[in-house]
Amino acid sequence: MKPSIVWFRDDLRVADNPALRAAVDDGAAVALYVLDEESPGIRPHGGAARWWLHHSLTALREDLDKLGVPLLLRRGPAADVVRETTTAIGAGGLYWNRRYGSAERTVDAGIKAWAGDAGLHVSSFQASLLHEPWEVTTKTGGQYKVFTPFWRTVSAQDFRAPLAVPEAGHGFSGKLPAHDHLESWQLLPTTPDWSGGLAELWTPGAAAGHKRLATFVAGGLSNYSEGRNRPDTDGSSCLSPYLRWGELSPFEVWHALGSKRSESASIYASELGWREFCWHQYFHNPSLATANLRPEFDRFPWAWPGTNHNGSSNNGKHPGHESAPEELRAWQQGRTGFPMVDAGQRQLWQTGWMHNRVRMVAASFLVKNLGIHWQLGEQWFWDTLVDADPASNPANWQWVAGSGADASPFFRIFNPEAQRVKFDPQGKYVAHWIPEFGTPDYPEEIVDLKTTRAEALEAYKEMREVH
Ligand code: FAD
Repeated sequence: MKPSIVWFRDDLRVADNPALRAAVDDGAAVALYVLDEESPGIRPHGGAARWWLHHSLTALREDLDKLGVPLLLRRGPAADVVRETTTAIGAGGLYWNRRYGSAERTVDAGIKAWAGDAGLHVSSFQASLLHEPWEVTTKTGGQYKVFTPFWRTVSAQDFRAPLAVPEAGHGFSGKLPAHDHLESWQLLPTTPDWSGGLAELWTPGAAAGHKRLATFVAGGLSNYSEGRNRPDTDGSSCLSPYLRWGELSPFEVWHALGSKRSESASIYASELGWREFCWHQYFHNPSLATANLRPEFDRFPWAWPGTNHNGSSNNGKHPGHESAPEELRAWQQGRTGFPMVDAGQRQLWQTGWMHNRVRMVAASFLVKNLGIHWQLGEQWFWDTLVDADPASNPANWQWVAGSGADASPFFRIFNPEAQRVKFDPQGKYVAHWIPEFGTPDYPEEIVDLKTTRAEALEAYKEMREVH
């Protein structure tokens, strides 16, 4: 019996992994992970994501070892690597869980066609999303652009129960082809090593994800409807990186919420729905990170434009923002003089994660008070978040900027001070991340909120007036 290959991608887990389950049921299996930084259109991981990936692969290898499934690591264009590996071990079948980015799907389709011609058996499965984006359509057959009807449709489905970890099967006894050592990928930062804060907060890998899920369901979930807005408490689940890397599946999280749901549990479930909605958008709009979903935003007179901006705009004409690059740096480094923004940016830099409420405030400040294109914020988050996700990150940035699907209207401009008073009432969050707050060492405000708000509204008006 020929062995088969399970190609791991954004599904770094052994539980609820239909591709792994099917391969092991079929006989001896070899797991493959490809670091593909060369196939056209595949977005290379940012720094924090690379750190997570290193540790996640280490954890995955341990879990796979227990099943007698060796993990092969290879770097290169996936189409070449998968072909070479399949041929080298004489595999009879290829298994994977589906992914939804356009460039990734192109690669997968190419490999599937090749495998079919070569007489290999190929099976793909749904594992990373609760819905298949092409199956959920509006009455007229199109994509959903508004969250509420989307989620009503998706959540009416019966989601399958998570699959157990497969039994250890026939171990692979053949000779493994040449493969890479994880260390040779140099995913961990060295000069300097900025990952201390990440390691302090996070333990990547499925075991830690399950532990966090269980702790949250037993504790924070009951107060989630309130707690989720409070960056000064542990009110949200902090499961985003585990979901991002597929160490936890959305089916596992969904079923962990139980069938009889409190209001908090339903709100939590709908947050999973936002994750689905972001992927729905990304599936239908592969250039979500580089092009406004609402084309009128191509005309927005940014003080500081984006880099891959599609379409024309009278970029750079918004008055009073000539110093935008320095303002961008101040925002990145958490020294804007607005404590809610700065605390969030410092939390992000030190831990690779930022509370959702603060993400919204920090993003709104960049886009609306500094007049800097949302793409520059998106790129910074992409590099610094451990949960940096090719769908959720651009979709949320476009949501904040007003250029996205079902977005917050542009004229809704968060006041970072009012947000601080409301959501960090005792100042605990700010004090934790900005020890010098309230002393002369804390930076002055880099812009005037009132003036920049008025300028933003003026710019928005200008955009809408041009026909
Ligand atoms: P919880 O409140 O416990 O939510 C549970 C899960 O639901 C999350 O783990 C996440 O998977 C999902 N979720 C919650 N809110 C959203 C949302 N608005 N959009 C999509 N999924 C959501 N989330 C990412 O996973 N990756 C990103 O790259 C990302 N970038 C963002 C950028 C901006 C500007 C903003 C405003 C939000 C972004 N989010 C992103 C969404 C959200 O901030 C995080 O998912 C959330 O803060 C993660 O913390 P948690 O696991 O404690 O969330």
